[in-house]
Amino acid sequence: MALQALKTDINLNNNVYKPKFNSLVKKSFDTIVIGGGLVGSAVACGIARKGLSVAILDGGDRDYRASRGNFGLVWVQGKGADYAPYAKWSGLASKHYSLFEQGLKEATGINVGLSQNGGFDFCLTEEEWDERLVEMAAVSRHTHGEFKYQMLDYVELKQLMPPISDEVVGASYSPHDGHLNPLYLLRGLQNWTQSLGGVYLPETKAISIRALKRGFDISTSNAVYHSEKVVLCGGLDNQRLTRDLDMFIPIHSVRGQLLVSERVAPFLTHPSLQIRQTDEGSLQIGDSHEVVGLNDGTTLDVMAKMARRAVTIFPHLSSVKLNRAWGALRVMTPDGLPVYHHSEQHPGAFALSCHSGVSLAALHAGFIADWIVGEETHPLISDFSGDRFDVPIN
Ligand SMILES: Cc1cc2nc3c(=O)[nH]c(=O)nc-3n(C[C@H](O)[C@H](O)[C@H](O)COP(=O)(O)OP(=O)(O)OC[C@H]3O[C@@H](n4cnc5c(N)ncnc54)[C@H](O)[C@@H]3O)c2cc1C
Repeated sequence: MALQALKTDINLNNNVYKPKFNSLVKKSFDTIVIGGGLVGSAVACGIARKGLSVAILDGGDRDYRASRGNFGLVWVQGKGADYAPYAKWSGLASKHYSLFEQGLKEATGINVGLSQNGGFDFCLTEEEWDERLVEMAAVSRHTHGEFKYQMLDYVELKQLMPPISDEVVGASYSPHDGHLNPLYLLRGLQNWTQSLGGVYLPETKAISIRALKRGFDISTSNAVYHSEKVVLCGGLDNQRLTRDLDMFIPIHSVRGQLLVSERVAPFLTHPSLQIRQTDEGSLQIGDSHEVVGLNDGTTLDVMAKMARRAVTIFPHLSSVKLNRAWGALRVMTPDGLPVYHHSEQHPGAFALSCHSGVSLAALHAGFIADWIVGEETHPLISDFSGDRFDVPIN
């Protein structure tokens, strides 16, 4: 079988597969996942765990790659305030995370540094506090009280977090939230997939996809791949890719800038949307949301604003040095909700996009992989179909 022949060329040590095949020969897999970011890698891992042959066709370092530039939160609070299924789905992901992370650690030896003892979202004005209150109540209502939270005023917060400044009005807190190292998560998912016989092909971009009577042909610059099923997880390239298979999944980018400080003595026991302390001691700061097209650079004004906000919350950080900064582009749908779409016209073709690929990884490797291989479908998945988007009339 093609997979057996290919497996001998996998070099697990440096995580890179070196193809030796004749480029005219078609390579076949049960499932091909296009895009090896957090979404594609989690789904491929879930499929490989079911014993099916799977290949990930990935791009290269010049691509836009949210999975390599994100904030690393496993976050629930506030998600789905306007859409009950998303509130439930985010809560479910958080619930499944520690079991999933244990499985990943046992299978690969990679510790992603998951800490899931709750998180804060700081409010610097009364308006922010009032808005948060409404949002939290909505998520709790949507989940019939399963989502737990507290709104803390300054005095309550100060007791839990003494370094907080008196400019902070309060915070929302939820015990479901946490954080991890997203780069270790990505590596862990890809290693786990490969250890089960899955194939990871970097620098192998899908140029076009063709639906056949049975299965799909995927053309890259030097080969054609064939699979029974194809899962489109190309991040910001997904809108283009889905067009080949007559699907319409509108995607746009939203930039986030991040700052990383020198290592400081541990003081932040919980992550927040504005700042978190990694298990190595550095601080990661950043919560910007900028619609600037495909510009993934950094700007002084936004970096200064984020640093100022962090120091307003924790004044003792004013002398901490910043070591690095970067910008990365979020993969956004028009309504901000995930898309899990199975094509009616071309059964076996799936498209997945979301802006919470860290938080939802446990479900992508679990229920979403089950759905793709044809096992029982979790009832919430149909709430995220791409049918909600109107196809533009040319
Ligand atoms: C600043 C920032 C902060 C964030 N913070 C968080 C957070 O705290 N928590 C959270 O849950 N989420 C967070 N996210 C979102 C999260 O990073 C994304 O949801 C997730 O990374 C999306 O993964 P993806 O695999 O869909 O896309 P990407 O990471 O963009 O990966 C797409 C992959 O597809 C490849 N590709 C593209 N085109 C092709 C092609 N034609 N053929 C083959 N391969 C192709 C690319 O090379 C890339 O590897 C954040 C994002 C940003 C930008």
